Amino acid sequence: MDLVRRVSMMQEIVREKAGKGRKVAFVPTMGALHDGHLSLVRRARELGDFVIVSAFVNPMQFGPNEDFDTYPRDLARDQDLCIQEGVDYLFAPSREDMYRPDHHTYVEVEGLSSLLEGATRPGHFRGVATVVLKLLNVVRPHFAVFGQKDAQQVAVIKRMVRDLNVPVELIVEPTVREDDGLALSSRNAHLDPEDRRAAPVLYRALERARALVEEEGVREAARVDAAVREVLGTEPRARIDYVAIVDPDEFVPLERVDENTLIALAAWLGETRLIDNVLVTPRRVG
Ligand code: AMP
Repeated sequence: MDLVRRVSMMQEIVREKAGKGRKVAFVPTMGALHDGHLSLVRRARELGDFVIVSAFVNPMQFGPNEDFDTYPRDLARDQDLCIQEGVDYLFAPSREDMYRPDHHTYVEVEGLSSLLEGATRPGHFRGVATVVLKLLNVVRPHFAVFGQKDAQQVAVIKRMVRDLNVPVELIVEPTVREDDGLALSSRNAHLDPEDRRAAPVLYRALERARALVEEEGVREAARVDAAVREVLGTEPRARIDYVAIVDPDEFVPLERVDENTLIALAAWLGETRLIDNVLVTPRRVG
């Protein structure tokens, strides 16, 4: 496993090692790797002949008052985990190498990027789309593996890849959770013990929604929304940012829950903002 710090070096490696029918599988991350990331890495191993993981905390996707400075970073540990998982290259470029001082080119996926996460975090998806396209251009993978945990990110990247004819196959893997249901996230490290204890309420709320739709056959989005909010309301430490019942590609709100409907939410626990989601399909009646 080699650590690659320079964009030019990564490009050279890819030029030399890829091709000859060998397929590159790529897992873009912001580092501070956890089992959620590692499940993507394992999928990448199955898909590709060699695996590249990137660890880059992308300043462009953080707002001025967000947690860029305090975002967890631990390259030495990331390196160890990548060795254990049989990763071929860990690509961890510097901020200066990724963005020249006169960088002025951005990828904007209109519409989708201004809803939900994008409404709370203006400019976030512009930063995500721009860095992901840059990384795909450097690594030129056959497969790029993403987590369903960031459902709107998946939708934005799918749209970018389609609209700009990016030659990559996107693979989406299910959310990995702690035993108590909390979705793994690098940001969980910021939760104090009380907030950590409270945090599984997000998943309980989503599970309630799933049960309503898939077991009780409820189709009215308003009822599902109310039930999610009710469960979240049982935990005074959780402050709701949004609850959304949308289709997973366009993110338009639905009045009726349909096949493959996304129920997504964001909530604050203390200073930490957590997101989670489930995909549900209504029980067939009759
Ligand atoms: P991040 O480092 O948070 O930018 O995440 C890098 C990739 O890992 C993204 O595709 C995320 O969706 C994915 N990811 C993060 N947390 C999880 C999780 N708990 N389960 C599965 N994938 C995840």
